[in-house]
Amino acid sequence: AIDLGTANTLVFVRGQGVVFSEPSVVALDTKTEEVVAVGSAAKRMIGRTPANIVAIEPLKEGVIADFGATEKMIAHFIRRAQRRERRRRPYRSLVGPRVVVCAPSGATGVELRAVKEAAESAGARQAYVIEEPLAAAIGAGLPVEEPEGSMVVDVGGGTTEVAVISLGGIVTKTSVRTAGNEMDRAIASFVQREHKVAVGTQTAERLKIELGSALPLGEGESAEMRGRDLLTGLPKTVVVTGEEVGEAIGPAVEAIVGAAKNTLDRTPPELASDVIERGMVLAGGGALLRNLDERLSRETGVAVHVAEDPLECVAVGSGRYLEELGHLLSRTSSTG
Ligand code: ADP
Ligand code: MG
Repeated sequence: AIDLGTANTLVFVRGQGVVFSEPSVVALDTKTEEVVAVGSAAKRMIGRTPANIVAIEPLKEGVIADFGATEKMIAHFIRRAQRRERRRRPYRSLVGPRVVVCAPSGATGVELRAVKEAAESAGARQAYVIEEPLAAAIGAGLPVEEPEGSMVVDVGGGTTEVAVISLGGIVTKTSVRTAGNEMDRAIASFVQREHKVAVGTQTAERLKIELGSALPLGEGESAEMRGRDLLTGLPKTVVVTGEEVGEAIGPAVEAIVGAAKNTLDRTPPELASDVIERGMVLAGGGALLRNLDERLSRETGVAVHVAEDPLECVAVGSGRYLEELGHLLSRTSSTG
């Protein structure tokens, strides 16, 4: 199963769990269009490429922004998982794997079909697509098949997806293009404005992880950061405080809380009361932002549980779906 996230792509293999996780970045040779690097090697190239190489984040805003690059990335990951499998079990004859791809929910029908085809042309025997919130809910262990409301808030890189699920389907959902990346951009522009220093989004992300919080922090935490002085053009080190980071990410946090409230507002009363009783699950890398659970819970009045491993939740859910699918398909084929 492949969790095609806007920030990270994870690959899950049946019986083994998540076997690797890499940033969703591809570096291509601009002349030949050939893949130069994928994943963390490609991410390190962002903002550092010469003219003949381009580092692309193909799923930038929660939609498939660059289809060709997405296709190359999927193919790369499927081949890598297959190589790994061949090393592990060299004597086993390998038919193409059955693949479940979890695509961002902003993807259109045409794109979903294209993702399926990309997986198939990369060697998958059969490919299926699963909706992100459903995968997140399965991964978090929620009883999605029951006639009961389960709510998930998945804060990723490009989008925040909120959904209430019942009987295996999505009843209400909200998707906003505010998530981790927007926080990084907000921090970068805050630092630029307040300290007159230019920093890249990777540095901003580090500040977010070290100092960010969705509620004001008591004591004064701070971190040193290097950037380019906007006035002199020379390197400069400045000290950024937790308070500043909190102020910068404030609007993004509000938008995420707003998406959760909005979804609850539109949820039919029976399901809403299930959610109020049982709480909601917070998943995605953004769930690791300090105090986001507490902030969400205070503003919605609903208990918030952070998924056990927020970064792997969707991949694990897609994997479980794949395993179930395996059972279902073998059952149907054995009964004809
Ligand atoms: P996607 O599903 O879109 O690929 P992920 O679920 O992998 O996204 O989450 C990636 C986002 O989580 C990034 O914006 C990253 O900066 C953020 N993130 C990861 N760890 C933390 C942390 N400890 N605190 C805050 N944000 C984090
Ligand atoms: Mg995700």
